[in-house]
This record gives sequence, structure tokens and C-alpha cells, in this order.
Amino acid sequence: MKLIIHRGTHEIGGTCVEIAAEHTRIIIDLGMPLSDPRDKSKKLKDFSLRGKTVPELIGDGILPKVSGLYWGVGKEKPVDAVLLSHPHQDHYGLFKYVLKDIRIFLGEDTDKMLQAAEIFQGDRIGEHDDKVLLKDREPVTIGDIKITPFLVDHSAYGAMAFLAEAEGKKIFYSGDFRGHGRKKALFEKLIEKPVPGIDVLLMEGTMMGRQQEDTWTEDELEREISNEARVHEGMKLFICSGQNVDRLVTFYRAAKRSGPVFVLDLYAANVLHELGRKSLPVPTNGFKDVKVLFTHHFMKRLSIYNMKHWYERWRTYEISPAALQRAGKKAFVMFRDSSAHEFEKTGIPKGSMLFYSMWSQYALEPSFEKTRAFLDRHSIEFKEMHTSGHAVLDDLKRFADAMKPETIVPIHTEYPNEYRQHFGNKVRCLHDGEALAV
Ligand SMILES: [Zn+2]
Repeated sequence: MKLIIHRGTHEIGGTCVEIAAEHTRIIIDLGMPLSDPRDKSKKLKDFSLRGKTVPELIGDGILPKVSGLYWGVGKEKPVDAVLLSHPHQDHYGLFKYVLKDIRIFLGEDTDKMLQAAEIFQGDRIGEHDDKVLLKDREPVTIGDIKITPFLVDHSAYGAMAFLAEAEGKKIFYSGDFRGHGRKKALFEKLIEKPVPGIDVLLMEGTMMGRQQEDTWTEDELEREISNEARVHEGMKLFICSGQNVDRLVTFYRAAKRSGPVFVLDLYAANVLHELGRKSLPVPTNGFKDVKVLFTHHFMKRLSIYNMKHWYERWRTYEISPAALQRAGKKAFVMFRDSSAHEFEKTGIPKGSMLFYSMWSQYALEPSFEKTRAFLDRHSIEFKEMHTSGHAVLDDLKRFADAMKPETIVPIHTEYPNEYRQHFGNKVRCLHDGEALAV
């Protein structure tokens, strides 16, 4: 087999991996890089790519140079499949450039998340005629490569690692994972019963170089949030990704500990509902203490997409501005800057606070200024409450020890050169685009 990391050997984000056997080529992930490859100080956003052709994007270093993957480049023998490990932009953000008739493989939950991301955020993976939905540990065969997906614990629900087998060799791609989330049992399961005989382990290392950061488990985070909420008088607002299911559960449980009304926005409510797990805290699963906030921005998006039933189904559980005002200090409410003016109309009690539950760097970006101004106007206290979606070094070590690969290849890390000191001589650092014969 042949392995090429087209992007991701020394950066977080923009991941793209190719695995090839004699008759088959597959691509795993095709993410948006976090920054412009030509100017690392510039954040890369979807809109900045609009109007550019595929050759231009390849020339700019934004699309990795992979033959047979994109439309708009003339006749090339197409790759046999594209796999997606999980629904994070830095793994799927460039899928819209993939040839329409290439078969796409992704987890069932990932597919649902992507639908919601398109409707509520405008993140599109484009039209793909041929989609295959993967199930945990159910192998699929693509030409002469056998792929087995493994559900992993990550901040994206339904995230998967992939085992690729061909020509008597095994490559295991960890994808993004951690061992301290609400699905840590998945991590422990992989460690207890590791895949035997792995030749190459492609292992993410987001947390390498960030080890000084506090890493709470989701349970610890829940406790911290609820402790903090108890000593504050006013309304508790929170910001987290509508797709971070673990975190939504954490906030719900923290809210329950301090007793108030828990309010989701339409995005989060629909994500939790669509996943179809009865344990997730939405009113349609019997959680009568959860309410749904109807905001203009999301209602408009649902109308545009002809998805009005995605707000109509919450009518019985809608919290009106008046009810929110009455709940006031007792309410624990999901917040987005697109609805700041609606909160202002409702009125914000004195002594309110905002729990910020995303990577701290995002709060330093210009896109956060609107929220910052809103917080200042109402003297709302800003409190960061977050934990990483990625494995800490100890868990990376446990994982590598259990999997016992012949070779470890760093990916999704800014510090590939630190791997050797932690994982020994079996580490092999690659360059983007370099082929490794397995
Ligand atoms: Zn991720």
C-alpha cells in the first residue's frame, strides 16, 4: 500500500490523506486549512474562496494537489472514494470541490450533522450522487481496500477512525479523538481490544505543545459550570457549537444541578432531535424542562431551505420573550450574536453572565466583536468554560501503547517533531505530499 498525507503533517486543520493499493485510490478527509497557506496570519474563511477556480485554488495552495479528485481540471482518472471522518470544517471544508460522481463514505450521524450545518450555517459539502453511510465496526470494501470504521470520542458526534487493509497491510487513521469526553467508553474499548498487526498508525496530536492547558473531563466541566452558575444572580447565557452534542449535554446537566429553565436554540434542538437518541435532552425525547428559543435568524434560514417543519415541531415547547423575561434569572439560555437584539428586547437581568465554551482563540477573532460589544453594553460577565475535543498526551500514549503499530506517523499537529520523545523510534515524520510505501 501507499500512504500520502497531502496536508496535515505539520498543521492542525486542512487534513487530507490518500491511501492507495494496486487498483484503488481513496482519499480520507479534505478539510479547510485554518489559515491561508501563503500568509499564515490570515484566517481562511469560506467566503474568501468564492469565485476562484479549482486550478487557482490549487495554485494558491488551498486545495492540495491530488489528481482525479476535483471538478474543473480536465480528464484525470478519478479516485475511487472519498471518506469523511467527522463533521468538522477542518476535515470536510473543501468537499464541495470533489467530483460529483465520486462515491462518498461517511458515518450516519456525520451525515445528519452536515445537513444541519448546511441549513443553519451555510456550510455545504456540495452535491454528491453516491453517498454510503457507514456504521460502527461494519467493514466496507472499496476496490482492493477494506475499510473498517470505528466510532471514537470527539467533540464532533459520530466521529470515526478508519482501518484500511490491503495487500496484507494495515493502516489505522485515528481521525480526531479524545479519551475524556462523554463517549470515553469508545476510547477504552479500542484500548482494551486493539486492532492487531497495525503497520502504520496515523495519529492526531492537536494537544502536543498545548499540554499546559487544563483539560477537564466533560463531567468536571459540568460541575464547574454549575458551581459558577450558583454564585451568579442573573441569566446564564452560553455559547457552544450547536454540533457539540457532548457539550450541550454538559450544559443541560449543569443547568439541572442549579435548577433553572434550560433553553436551546433551533439549531441545537434540531441536531439533538435528528440524531434520534432518546437520551439526548430535547423536549421531543420527553425532556419537558427544555425549551426552544425561536430567533429570527434561524427561522429565516429554515424558511429559505423549505424546512419550516424544523421550527413548527417545537411550537409546543417554544419559550416566548415574555416567558424568558419571567424566567429571567432562572434561565440558562443558548446565545448567538445573530439574536443579540432579540435578547436586548426581552431584557437582560442585572448580574447576568455568559459561559463561553469554544476554543479560546475564537473569542479573539473579529467575528467575536459583536458579542463582546453586547456583553459590554449589559455588563455581562464573560466566563470561559471549555475543554478540548482532543486527546491529552497521556491518552495519546495509552492509545499508541495499546495499538502497538510498527510505525507512528504524526498528523493534525503543529509539533510532529515532539512525537519521537514521547513515542520513540517508531515515529516517522512525513512531509505533505510525500509517499510512504507500506
Ligand atoms: Zn475535529
